Amino acid sequence: MRTADLVVVGAGVVGLAIARAALAAEPSLRIEVVDKEPAVAAHGSGRNSGVLHSGVYYAEGTLKARFCRDGNAAWRAWCADKRVPVRSCGKVIVARSLSEQAGLEELARRADAGGVRVEWLDEAQLAEVEPRARTVGKALFSPDTGSVDPRRVMTELAGELAAKGVRLTLGKAFHGRTGEVLDIGGERVTASHVVNAAGLHADVVAREFGAGGRFRLLPFRGLYLYADASAAPFRTHVYPVPDLTMPFLGVHVTLTVDGKAKLGPTAMPALWREQYGGLSGFSAEEAARIGLGHLQLLATDASARRLGAAEIAKLSAQRLIEGARGLVPDLDPARWKQWGRPGIRAQLVDTHTGRLHMDFAVEDAERSTHVLNAISPAFSCALPFGEYVVAHHLRGTVL
Ligand SMILES: Cc1cc2nc3c(=O)[nH]c(=O)nc-3n(C[C@H](O)[C@H](O)[C@H](O)COP(=O)(O)OP(=O)(O)OC[C@H]3O[C@@H](n4cnc5c(N)ncnc54)[C@H](O)[C@@H]3O)c2cc1C
Repeated sequence: MRTADLVVVGAGVVGLAIARAALAAEPSLRIEVVDKEPAVAAHGSGRNSGVLHSGVYYAEGTLKARFCRDGNAAWRAWCADKRVPVRSCGKVIVARSLSEQAGLEELARRADAGGVRVEWLDEAQLAEVEPRARTVGKALFSPDTGSVDPRRVMTELAGELAAKGVRLTLGKAFHGRTGEVLDIGGERVTASHVVNAAGLHADVVAREFGAGGRFRLLPFRGLYLYADASAAPFRTHVYPVPDLTMPFLGVHVTLTVDGKAKLGPTAMPALWREQYGGLSGFSAEEAARIGLGHLQLLATDASARRLGAAEIAKLSAQRLIEGARGLVPDLDPARWKQWGRPGIRAQLVDTHTGRLHMDFAVEDAERSTHVLNAISPAFSCALPFGEYVVAHHLRGTVL
């Protein structure tokens, strides 16, 4: 039996950022971060696009809007300090038809309200900034959007915490609890407080504490298609105008930190939480429950029906590229052949509204705090989001 002041379940970016902020608030805290996987970043935090978002998209008053701009600046400063590379490429958001100009206006308004820098580009200016992109009417340029290698960031962040005395227990799952005694991979750990940052399993962990009852998880699978080395290069990320009633940004072209171009991610309904490939992780009970959940969403939400129809087509590389030609007309299918590691979004449905929950959610319960729906751009937001969770949910507990 061992004891900790704070146990964080989940060594993804959210769990590590919360541990980091808690330690900064009280350096004497005994903190243990546990993860069921043998290494950090096995799930969302190591399987994302690596885009450092600037905060253009998010509606005023949301947690996403509150943390994205500052998260971008905080990662840049942290990366500079640790000598972790950042690609400061910026991104263009282009319109595929004149009717999408209204969506761009709304994004510009949201950016303005959130103090996020954006610039309008006409077609000639767009050709200067990203010659391969096409817009109908104007485009928006976000100079502060960039990229990082998320796995490099995670390794460095875990190393920083370990060096400061945080105990990282990897390869051991949180199985349940009896009062304040937790079962961590068969070992008993007494914790004064638990933070649940378990990503795709955060709803399951929350239920152990009587939290999260309002939500149910629906996973969405994101596939990436990479350009080969002979493909013409890009200068910036290229994004479409998203459907702002959905939490996804539409298939886009992004650049990795070392300049490789990839197309994606898709937002395909997945049938089980870790449906990365083949039947690994398959459970018939889970697949039946999640499948039913997707069907219920399709029945209640017209945006989800539109998304579902569009996503089916993207299982084919050819169709994915055809769709993306609305952003970049000269995409050559012969040069886009290599599928990358998929990522799965831990998306929650709000059972009160029957719709996808659009923002992060944090709930307190007995001796515990639960981070739910930590979807994109939680990577970009993680450092200030971690500070927020500590300041607003851990004060008066272990602090
Ligand atoms: C396809 C895709 C693209 C994305 N692109 C971007 C992007 O470009 N920019 C951006 O800012 N955000 C992006 N995101 C979002 C971002 O990656 C996630 O929001 C973020 O990584 C979530 O972090 P997390 O710590 O909550 O979850 P995770 O990284 O999933 O970590 C949760 C951890 O909990 C562990 N765990 C689960 N259950 C247990 C248990 N019972 N016991 C112990 N451990 C457990 C898991 O093993 C996992 O390591 C993207 C996400 C996806 C899926």
